[in-house]
Amino acid sequence: AADDGILWHKGVCRFCGTGCGLLVGVRDGRVVATKGDPDAPVNRGLNCVKGYFNAKIMYGSDRLTQPLMRRKDGKFDKQGKFEPVTWDEALDEMARQMKKTLAAKGPAALSVIGSGQYTIPEAYAASKFVKGGLRSNNLDPNARLCMASAVVAFYQTFGIDEPANNYEDIEKADTMILWGNNMAEAHPVLWSRVANRKLTARTTKIVNVTTFRNSSSNLADETIVFRPNTDLAIVNFLLREIVRRGLVDKAFVEKHCIFAAGVTDIGYGLRTTSEFAKPSEKDTLERQLRVKLDRYEAVAQGRKAGEVVEQKNSGGTAGNHWQISFEDFKRGIEPYTLDFVAELAKGDDEESIDTFRAKLMALADLVCDTKRNLMSFWCMGFNQHQRGVWVNELVYSMHLLLGKHGLPGNGAFSLTGQPSACGSAREVGAFCHRLPSDMLVANPKHRAKTESLWKLPAGTLNPKVGASLMEMLRGLEDGSIDFVWTQVVNILQSAPNNTHWLKAARRPDAFVVVSDIYPTFSARSADLILPAAAHFEKWGLYGNGERRTQGWHQLVKPAGDARSDVWMMMELSKRFTLAEVWGETPLKGVPGDKLPSILEKAAEMGLKPESTLFDALFAPTGDRAAAVWPDPKYPNELNGTGDALGLPYFPEKALFDEYRKFTLGHGHDLADFDTYMREDVKGLLWPVVDGKETPYRFNTAFDPYAKEENLFYGPLMKEIPTGNLTGVTDKTAKAHPGKAKIFFRPYAAPVEQPDGHYDLWLSTGRILEHWHTGSMTRRVPELHRAAPSALLYMHPADAEKRGLKRGDTALVESRYGECRAVVETQARQLMPKGSTWLAFFDEKVRTNSVCIDATDPISLEPDYKKTAVRVKKA
Ligand code: SF4
Repeated sequence: AADDGILWHKGVCRFCGTGCGLLVGVRDGRVVATKGDPDAPVNRGLNCVKGYFNAKIMYGSDRLTQPLMRRKDGKFDKQGKFEPVTWDEALDEMARQMKKTLAAKGPAALSVIGSGQYTIPEAYAASKFVKGGLRSNNLDPNARLCMASAVVAFYQTFGIDEPANNYEDIEKADTMILWGNNMAEAHPVLWSRVANRKLTARTTKIVNVTTFRNSSSNLADETIVFRPNTDLAIVNFLLREIVRRGLVDKAFVEKHCIFAAGVTDIGYGLRTTSEFAKPSEKDTLERQLRVKLDRYEAVAQGRKAGEVVEQKNSGGTAGNHWQISFEDFKRGIEPYTLDFVAELAKGDDEESIDTFRAKLMALADLVCDTKRNLMSFWCMGFNQHQRGVWVNELVYSMHLLLGKHGLPGNGAFSLTGQPSACGSAREVGAFCHRLPSDMLVANPKHRAKTESLWKLPAGTLNPKVGASLMEMLRGLEDGSIDFVWTQVVNILQSAPNNTHWLKAARRPDAFVVVSDIYPTFSARSADLILPAAAHFEKWGLYGNGERRTQGWHQLVKPAGDARSDVWMMMELSKRFTLAEVWGETPLKGVPGDKLPSILEKAAEMGLKPESTLFDALFAPTGDRAAAVWPDPKYPNELNGTGDALGLPYFPEKALFDEYRKFTLGHGHDLADFDTYMREDVKGLLWPVVDGKETPYRFNTAFDPYAKEENLFYGPLMKEIPTGNLTGVTDKTAKAHPGKAKIFFRPYAAPVEQPDGHYDLWLSTGRILEHWHTGSMTRRVPELHRAAPSALLYMHPADAEKRGLKRGDTALVESRYGECRAVVETQARQLMPKGSTWLAFFDEKVRTNSVCIDATDPISLEPDYKKTAVRVKKA
């Protein structure tokens, strides 16, 4: 429709995993406005304050419009200053550096850090380029910092990733529990739906279970402030109450579930760069730790307080659990009585133990009210957690025990932070251990299937799991990785303990490339900056947190000489001959071992040693040639990557439709590219079978894959074994296909706690006005004015004790780094005594440089919520 010469098209919000549909106004080749799409089922016309600025984030005054390289005397020089260069100069140097690394150290020294902000074709192209082309599995997204724990818990519980429910459950729920999830700021449009439910169905109850009072507390009926990490104990208390009150849905559990536990798996994460670990201890710490159990841990595990135990860090093996009986499960949860958990978990000094106990019991009463529909929501509070996998699994256990999962108004719902963490990072498999549609690089059948669909010689894919994101950064530091290309991510600001990684990026042998739309902190610390096309300057699809895949077509030309990430990967792939990348190369982590040459097999397929990676990965094949382009509906200038590359086909469509083949028949079925691009299709919830979306998985009334005898996809679980980072088959899942697991996971203390040297907790996160590291939202004047800097939230008494008051500048120090921030003692985050909070959007504050880099030992996701710090006047 025309409106003052503005043409409106459908689009998707660039920010959070809510995935709000937009109407995007274009006039004179420029995006001039956006508004909430009234027909979009997610947001029904609403946007949050960030969403309304989707147009402005494209046009900041310092938008990158040409490649920039550090140079001196006309040549690349690590110590040089950034100078504009042509795309040929940029990509030639990049290829030269990669070949140098490849020749010296093999493919395991090359890495790409991707993102949950990739479009689906971008993530798929990256996976193909890195795994199929470079034969390295060192591709890992910033989603590793965001929801890796949720992913592993999904696999281990259900055998397949992503939520069973959908957002409409908000309107059907009677009780909603927020687990460490400040939805009011992190998922504001979902929160508006929660508010609508609360205000229109007055019996609705909302409980905010959190380490501090926050904006979500304003609407919640109750806020339960707990001591960091004790959420594990609180959920175990609820499990105990369900069993004690005889409320286990026996018919459901006996038919569809087994019990599992892994109580000895109490590794302390990989804190190899922390002050705790001297370099000589690194190896030991990664594999085995001697841990002195504290009083609570000991009780929770049926051991003696002060006992020193040797604990293996599972480091991602699938041996982290095994089947147990219901009786064993009951014995495991027995210590989690009201008194024990209340004493352990009470998080606010100013609240009495009786009040806290009463709150826990009231929460149990709500959970145990079988007549009320029950939804649980969580996001980073659970995932960025040293026991993230466990605590995700425990909430599933609660819902499964009650038989309240995958039903309208009933389910455990892991929300996502990024617009396409689900669609791109997870489903496409842009992780170091994954291949598309839940397949794994360590599984020979999965590699063979992928090689066949990619039309690559057998044996192309490297069987060794790649480096996860934190391992890549450590590799950059210790020299095992020399090349890093970060795409759609600002990792040197967002990663924990990042002063290390900043120094690593400047190591003389390292070559760091950043593609982005703005000169982020990471870009300015790199060697080469590539200007990327913004979201509406390219064709794209995102997959949101409720399994909704949504597409949009390119609306305007990229700014200046910016190019899409797909274009960059395709152009770069033309600069490698197969002889250069597919010969014999060293294998990661196996001294003396080699990745065998596949050149001979390639020749049998018509790919000569002098053919390029582009020829092998992206050149027109029968399928791709069928992705005809240009489409007469759109002007040539909006033909995106295909037009810019002079290709006779449409790469984004070809990539998506090729990827789609992985999804069909595997419980992830997607519709075709053209369907998602239709203006009247506002996204579809996968699996899409016979043109129909699936609102509830694991529910025979809705899900074509769910069978009464195999509710949790039995045959698929057998064919696609679960497991986590190593890709080792999950034996319990294999032995019981079609059954979900109810886990017992004990409480375990966090890796460090406030002590005499660092006496406060620090947790970090997002605020309403800014997206992640603020690289886009800080360039919107209205958002910048609304929240110009990250504030240090603390209790007024804690501030006063340190001679600080609201508005003073404080120095925050940890064992890992320091930063300065202005003190805030009121407003949105009301901290209990002993706790502080900082947002990470502010480049000036660089909050995450203070954070510990300890990870969950199974998912390898870092914990941003529990660093011990001290605060003083700056
Ligand atoms: Fe919707 Fe999230 Fe975008 Fe806000 S930021 S408009 S809630 S998708």
